Amino acid sequence: MATKLSLVKCNNYDQTLVDEAIRQSLENLGGMARFVKPGQKVLIKPNALLGKSPDDAVTTHPAIIAAVVKAVIKAGGIALVGDSPGNAHSNVPKTMEETGIKQATEAAGGQLIYFQQDGVVEVKSPSNNPRLSLLRIAKIALEADVIINLPKLKTHGLTLYTGAIKNMFGVVPGFNKASFHTSSPRPRDFAESIVDVFQIAKPALNIMDAVVGMEGPGPSNGYPRRLGLIMASTDAVALDSVGAYLIGYEPSRIYTTLAASKRQLGEMDLARIEISGPSLSELRQPDWKKSFNLEGLIDHLPGFVFALFNPIISQIKIYPQIDQSKCVKCLICVNNCPAKTIDYDKSAKKVEVIKKNCISCFCCHELCPYNAVKLERSWLVRLLKLG
Ligand code: SF4
Ligand code: SF4
Repeated sequence: MATKLSLVKCNNYDQTLVDEAIRQSLENLGGMARFVKPGQKVLIKPNALLGKSPDDAVTTHPAIIAAVVKAVIKAGGIALVGDSPGNAHSNVPKTMEETGIKQATEAAGGQLIYFQQDGVVEVKSPSNNPRLSLLRIAKIALEADVIINLPKLKTHGLTLYTGAIKNMFGVVPGFNKASFHTSSPRPRDFAESIVDVFQIAKPALNIMDAVVGMEGPGPSNGYPRRLGLIMASTDAVALDSVGAYLIGYEPSRIYTTLAASKRQLGEMDLARIEISGPSLSELRQPDWKKSFNLEGLIDHLPGFVFALFNPIISQIKIYPQIDQSKCVKCLICVNNCPAKTIDYDKSAKKVEVIKKNCISCFCCHELCPYNAVKLERSWLVRLLKLG
């Protein structure tokens, strides 16, 4: 049977409009009662990356969270909303307030759940990943009867695109995320660990906020762009395949999609996805500004080409650089750099990246609330006009 995917137009975040779009999306997939039975514990997992306003398009819009919470409660479920923001030091309750997620959840009758306090368990990598064999996962992600995933459609500096599969990385609480970057600095390897998390905490239902997504240097410093859609499917791989295609990527170009498809966790072939709603050709925006990713380009080179030209290829680099005029020395980047390669010189009052140890994970770029981390292209990148 073909994978089903629902596309419902929704041009803005007016609550009535969103409620109706979510209702229609659920109806297209058989109704919420298909997923949630009375009394079941439902973990609703939005994207709460940073404490930003919903208008910045960094986080899942509160109107979507409110609509889903109401639908879960109507089906008799217990609606628990939780995420672990990217900044391991962040005050999670404050982030939930700044994003509007707390207010939306509580007004709709749901409750927030904080992963660190609730408990974390160690789980063996389902793919026997030699780079990261044990993963620390929020207990509720294993205990919930149902997981509903609410990603935001965005570009991403490390994985090119972030949607349904990558959003489940948020069930890895706080500091535990760093080990993913240090063990697997290359995007292809990093994607395998992300798919491990997705496989462990596989959502029954995925509803993507693609009303306003993000283009350019996502997932936090890009530019909001309207796609005007609520996308939904039981199959996160299919959802990401269509999401990436709509913004101009071949689905197989996205490592998380490719890795999950290879493990047969979902459908990547667009021809095998049964879509209800407007046609993809009508909706596609191929001029969506991409997030630059050189490591990804390098990964596509055949092995012998890579070996032959490695000394030159190694000069193809992007490094983060601190814009001192914008840096307020909050030290979020210093405290969250997985390679511990951002230094704070107290006497000079200066935050700086020690480039030689940088693994180009771009966490600093992703997490700086002041847009003070710029991505600097190496001489070869500039010469070849790759970025
Ligand atoms: S670069 Fe950004 S995150 Fe790092 S210390 Fe400065 S303001 Fe804070
Ligand atoms: S400096 Fe930034 S990009 Fe480099 S390893 Fe640290 S967090 Fe990652």
